[in-house]
Amino acid sequence: MSATFKIRLKALDQLLHEARLNALLITHPANWYYLTGFTGESGALIASKGSATLISDGRFTTQAREETSSVRYVEQKGSLMESIGRLLREKSLRRVGFDPSQISVAQLRSLRKAARVHTEWISAPGLVEALRIRKEPAELARMRRAAKLAGDVLTGALKLLKPGVTENEIAAEIEYQMRRGGASGPAFETIVAFGERAALPHARPTAKRLRKNELVVLDLGVILAHYCSDITRTVYVGRAPARVKQWHKAVQEAQTAAIAAVGAGVSCGDVDAAARQILVGYKLDRYFTHSTGHGLGLEVHEAPRVARGQTARLESGFVVTIEPGVYMAGVGGIRIEDDVAVHTDKTEILTRIPRDLIEL
Ligand code: ZN
Ligand code: ZN
Repeated sequence: MSATFKIRLKALDQLLHEARLNALLITHPANWYYLTGFTGESGALIASKGSATLISDGRFTTQAREETSSVRYVEQKGSLMESIGRLLREKSLRRVGFDPSQISVAQLRSLRKAARVHTEWISAPGLVEALRIRKEPAELARMRRAAKLAGDVLTGALKLLKPGVTENEIAAEIEYQMRRGGASGPAFETIVAFGERAALPHARPTAKRLRKNELVVLDLGVILAHYCSDITRTVYVGRAPARVKQWHKAVQEAQTAAIAAVGAGVSCGDVDAAARQILVGYKLDRYFTHSTGHGLGLEVHEAPRVARGQTARLESGFVVTIEPGVYMAGVGGIRIEDDVAVHTDKTEILTRIPRDLIEL
């Protein structure tokens, strides 16, 4: 693995060079994991040309030494910000980049104080994310396994959907099966929404009991070997009425169209538009209240955004979700979500369980 981290740090070097930075301060755990393999939750990584230094506190020292061989490790003395400031002064690093979305105003103030006048702080958002967006073959292999596990867990949960069961019980069983399957946990809070609650795209599980003739939305994902998956299926408990069938057909067609639009060189906005256009045809577009999808990887929401007007273009190695839905207040909602990897010559659907309306 250490060769992988060296290659990634080298790629970051190039970005630092282009941004005319002497160093980049990395404070986001997913980013330092990507560059070093360190899985601790507290610390900072300072990447500068040809070298990188990880700072963390005594709780993580043994772990950091075991997990990282490609970078220097320094144990934190005093506060983290003081330790960072000391290192920048020792190494005479002057132009230092930071990500304004990952550091608080108070932290930046402490950093300025700790580094003294010596350092110029430059806003440099998203540099590591720009590398993470393109998945290497080994990362894609992990994402296939994470997607497979999510599909298996969802398939298992369908068997438990019987009138009388609560959303909480189904969510608990889902998260138990994730762990049984080797996941370190859910990639986000599992969504189990019955009936009217399925009209809330981000419903939290409650004590609500399932009744006959209700829609059920299950949206879940695992973290397996550090990589996330994210899948949604919609179920009708009973024989679905014609309008529910029609809504599901529309969403399924919208999803199929968006997946068909995915490809290297295609803009994210065009993928979003492909889904939306189908729903316009069914006069359901105003019930599709969120964007079509998001990037997926070490985090469940990462670049790129597959949304209206996004000009960023998909490239080989990108992984995105495609998840159109329609939500009818007072009735319920329908969403279908799959994870899709972009290759030069094809699109690979990572989540491979059936997408048709399930009637139980
Ligand atoms: Zn989801
Ligand atoms: Zn999603």
